[in-house]
Amino acid sequence: MSGSNASVASTTSAQASAERLRITEIFHSIQGEADALGWRTVFVRLTGCPLRCVWCDTEYSFYGGNWRDIDDIVAEVASHGARHVCVTGGEPLAQKRCLILLKKLCDAGYDVSLETSGALDVSLVDPRVRKVMDLKAPDSGESKRNLWSNIEQLLPHDQVKIVIASRADYEWAREVIAEHGLVDKCMVLFSPVHGAIQPRELAEWIIADKLDVRFQLQLHKLLWNDEPGH
Ligand code: SF4
Repeated sequence: MSGSNASVASTTSAQASAERLRITEIFHSIQGEADALGWRTVFVRLTGCPLRCVWCDTEYSFYGGNWRDIDDIVAEVASHGARHVCVTGGEPLAQKRCLILLKKLCDAGYDVSLETSGALDVSLVDPRVRKVMDLKAPDSGESKRNLWSNIEQLLPHDQVKIVIASRADYEWAREVIAEHGLVDKCMVLFSPVHGAIQPRELAEWIIADKLDVRFQLQLHKLLWNDEPGH
């Protein structure tokens, strides 16, 4: 092999090894929330999250996981033959190379969604991706982490999700959507914290205040009691 070829080969190999992500799980299931509710979907769960929401239901994704080449992840996604792919966590954007995975999934023709905490910058996310972005209400313990500049990055196909654990959270959410004109930017989802408030209470508050938000319950909790891998 000539010197220049060796150099090209080593650069290519360095790029390949650089394009890896730490993955907790890849699984094939039914989307349990947001606009893609009910679609058969492949989930790619990235490891790690810099937040610690008190009601977090994916703490098992904070640590561990396995390093996987991005092309290998895309190949495993393809093996399930689904049109919808959801990149989730943890906080997937905590790994910068998540942006490469999102682009490759879009290039491959999937309908791609990204579940993100709202605490990290979303400006470099491929615009073909449907962002499902949280805004953290006070009872999460992480509302100081909301990166408000992200609201400017929302596209009409994106969604804002606010998880609500109390009447105080609800009133906070109502103020935030009014202050930022959120319902005119994209779909806004209100979701009750399982076991903290009755879903019916939240539904009745939304009706009483005539809010143009979408109430949602998590379908995967009904179907599989939220076991990992579903
Ligand atoms: S941002 Fe999501 S994964 Fe991270 S602690 Fe909060 S709920 Fe859990």
